[in-house]
Amino acid sequence: MSAAPAQFPTATILAYPRIGRGRELKRALEARWAGRITEAELTQAANDLRKANLARLVELGLNPTDASLADAPSLYDHVLDATILLGAIPPRFDGRTGLDLYFALARGDDKVGPEEMTKWFDTNYHYLVPEIGPDTPLRFADDTVTRRFIDAREWGYVTRPVLVGPVTYLALAKADPATPDFDPLTRIDEAVAAYEEALASLHAAGAPWVQLDEPALTSDNLSRTRVELGELAARVYERLAAATERPQILLTTPYGDASHALPALAKTGVEALHVDTLRGSLPEGADLSGVTLVVGAVDGRYIWRADLAELREILKRAQSLGAARVTVATSNSLQHVPHDTALETWDDATLDENLHAWLAFADQKVVEVVALARGVDQGWEVIDAEVAEATRILEERAAAPGVVRPEVRSRTAALTDADRTREPYLEREAAQTERLHLPALPTTTIGSFPQTTEIRKARAANARGELSDADYEARMREEIASVITLQEELGLDMLVHGEAERNDMVQYFAELLDGFAATRNGWVQSYGSRCTRPSVLWGDVSRPAPMTVGWTSYAQSLSDKPVKGMLTGPVTIIAWSFPRNDLALGEIADQIGLALRDEVSDLEAAGIAAIQVDEPALRELLPLDADRHADYLNWSVGSFRLATSSVRPDTQIHTHLCYSEFGQIIDAIKGLDADVTSIEAARSKMEVVPELAEAGFDHGIGPGVWDIHAPRVPGTEELAELIGLAADAVPVSRLWVNPDCGLKTRGYEETKASLDNLVSATRQVRAQRGLES
Ligand code: GLN
Ligand code: ZN
Repeated sequence: MSAAPAQFPTATILAYPRIGRGRELKRALEARWAGRITEAELTQAANDLRKANLARLVELGLNPTDASLADAPSLYDHVLDATILLGAIPPRFDGRTGLDLYFALARGDDKVGPEEMTKWFDTNYHYLVPEIGPDTPLRFADDTVTRRFIDAREWGYVTRPVLVGPVTYLALAKADPATPDFDPLTRIDEAVAAYEEALASLHAAGAPWVQLDEPALTSDNLSRTRVELGELAARVYERLAAATERPQILLTTPYGDASHALPALAKTGVEALHVDTLRGSLPEGADLSGVTLVVGAVDGRYIWRADLAELREILKRAQSLGAARVTVATSNSLQHVPHDTALETWDDATLDENLHAWLAFADQKVVEVVALARGVDQGWEVIDAEVAEATRILEERAAAPGVVRPEVRSRTAALTDADRTREPYLEREAAQTERLHLPALPTTTIGSFPQTTEIRKARAANARGELSDADYEARMREEIASVITLQEELGLDMLVHGEAERNDMVQYFAELLDGFAATRNGWVQSYGSRCTRPSVLWGDVSRPAPMTVGWTSYAQSLSDKPVKGMLTGPVTIIAWSFPRNDLALGEIADQIGLALRDEVSDLEAAGIAAIQVDEPALRELLPLDADRHADYLNWSVGSFRLATSSVRPDTQIHTHLCYSEFGQIIDAIKGLDADVTSIEAARSKMEVVPELAEAGFDHGIGPGVWDIHAPRVPGTEELAELIGLAADAVPVSRLWVNPDCGLKTRGYEETKASLDNLVSATRQVRAQRGLES
């Protein structure tokens, strides 16, 4: 039943959001995990959602039967789906099958821990990291992808199944912990053989096209450079293309620049080649005569209405490169943007009108792709009206009040290096020691305490108008008081107020700063059933009033011990929002940096002696291509220093970083020049401490000793051992003891027990080493 070769569809997207307009997938998954629905009901809900998504894409203008419909439904994660397809199951999961296996890999079960999770390229989406050793099975083990194709055809659609490509799959894998030095990419031939079988199965079912995603070819941040991965991919795709029993192949290179690899890939025999023209560039000078060039013109990462005039020029240029055909797509999967701007309303009427005109979520982007494809297909004049409309809206946006604010621009323009420089560290250290009176190995936490159901309920009631602002504030003050009492009882040395009043460490600030707009339904999948709602950063940023001073001063008034002020840094605010696309990130970061600088000064003036500025996303925004690293590190570090350099030498600046793999940003960590850096370290057994020391980092450091990502309570012995390991690597006078990250997702019982052990372990180490306490 093989299909005749069909040409690649003129309009397509690389994938559609899979969480659902009403977060149907989230609800179904969580209902299943809580035992409220059966496995069959979960499958039914997932099928209904998939059907609704396919129908919606057709309604938006994609062709139902020519493989335009990129079909990438996943119950949890698409990398996990590839692990299942390949049967690459780590041995600890033996004995499990079906959804029990699937969810055990994703979330662990009562006997085993899950696969590790890490961030997908430079996005805030987390995938499950494959664990590959020399003996991990790699074969075509599961035909879900084929069955899904057949199901969709029964519903009346000819879809284009989407798979993570073999190079990317192995490039993202880590070694099986039993063989830590093993290089997963050495298994590439077996992986390719498995993909050959998967493609044969799709072919037998009549699939005309398959999409293989190879974003690894755009990244220098993996175990090989993107050039090396490109060379490997050329060999791999030559082999895959040589198979006769297969669908036609679309090879995609989203998220960055794969132009180094495109000339070779164009000659492998794959029928269509995608290029991300948002982050990458067109394959100038390549022989494209044998391929369809699928131009990823419409931005799949951010949420701004496209500049159709500019994209038309890119597409015209693409049409001049001699490709067999040129078609239009998104730069990457739309999974990183919310479903539909029609689901939003903003309270301010002008903002509401403006944002509806300026923004394009997934559905609006599909319409943009379809319009551009009509231009490519039928001649550019047929979309003159759409192009003119897009240009008019962009001009209106540029001139709208709040987009450019002279008082903000003149402040950033006047900045000099002096604004980013504090007194020398040794001078600060002496002044802080004198002011803070801390014991050796001071203990502290990262900021948040458990966000209990009561706290969430109070916030929701306040948002609905059922709890007055005064009552809400009183409720949060009670919470702060109880968190302070608890920390004093536990014997912690530097306290925090606990962040009860914050829904989210970025949204909280976005709501208080000018230039941001929160969304109501702008949910984006973070991992599995977890979604975030990034704010839209649309205008110049400034701080109309202090944001944290009241809460922090209240907390400090309750204790003689120092309470740390707690702010989120510019890079993290940008990374977890949708930043504007009409201003360089460095300039946006400085605007946020200045707003934070004012907050830092106000905290200092209120008597707060230590202020933490969190930058957990510092690693995440590191550009994929190495050529852009230096510039990024320069502006990201610069904006942090801008936020934190206004204070006196005796005010202690802390920062916090998480999400492992600090190797590439060690110089940046040094560059932040924070007095104390707390950093995730428990899972890697303090590995980062000697690494930092060797790199010449010599300020205060608090390597996390308690892995807060799991509900487990670490024992005193284990904690003392980790503290000892750190104390062997750096001078004890600069070592702090703290958990890996904030405690907002933990319960009170585990929090109390773990912190109690953390304080006992610290006392033990102090005693062993004859340190004062
Ligand atoms: N201060 C924040 C908290 O404790 C830091 C969170 C983070 O690193 N993601 O919750
Ligand atoms: Zn953290």
